[in-house]
Amino acid sequence: MSHRYKCILLFGSPGSGKGTQGKILGEIPGFFHLACGDVFRSLDLTSSLGKKFMTHSSKGELVPDELTVEMWQNNMKAQVSLSIFKPAQDLLVLDGIPRTVSQAKALKDHLDVLAVLHLVCPDEAEMVRRMRRRALKENRLDDADEKVIHHRFEVYRKETEPVLSYYPKDIIHNVPAIASPSMVLMSVLDLVAPIQDHHFRNPLTQ
Ligand code: AMP
Repeated sequence: MSHRYKCILLFGSPGSGKGTQGKILGEIPGFFHLACGDVFRSLDLTSSLGKKFMTHSSKGELVPDELTVEMWQNNMKAQVSLSIFKPAQDLLVLDGIPRTVSQAKALKDHLDVLAVLHLVCPDEAEMVRRMRRRALKENRLDDADEKVIHHRFEVYRKETEPVLSYYPKDIIHNVPAIASPSMVLMSVLDLVAPIQDHHFRNPLTQ
């Protein structure tokens, strides 16, 4: 992949609302949302990679970096070849990747990161409640068990939070994420709409 995709990263702890915001953005023309966890969950769970994903995610662990990056690259290539994602027209909204500094380094040559939106929710109990609701709705094993949820927070603090220091401070935006999805969306759009407009304005609409 010689092309660096212009992208924004949705960043935040489990339950902070990355997926909710990412899905809404993905519905807006000019944005393409890709959630790494969704790609993993779409795998054939009897395949070798699918089994590895289940082994790690059911314990609240991350899938090893090399496998994750390889799967992400393959998935991106497929989305581009099928013209589902059009890099010349769409701002890529990545959710849940990179999740370690090593992943951030591996993606460096593939991504032009324009902004990192850090969804900040200091109320861990609220995030746990959100995750349990989601577990029931989406039948997610990793969010059904209290111990696994707490481990996911530990892994986030230890392995994922350091990713924030990898990117320049001036592209990191802290977004309060305790409010309702629509209120959070207003803050998210305030940040990302001008970026999308600046980089992808369609000359036909001017
Ligand atoms: P999520 O849907 O983002 O909460 O991800 C669910 C699970 O998928 C995580 O707990 C990990 O086991 C795995 N996963 C998703 N994204 C990554 C990633 N970037 N690196 C490693 N594992 C990941």
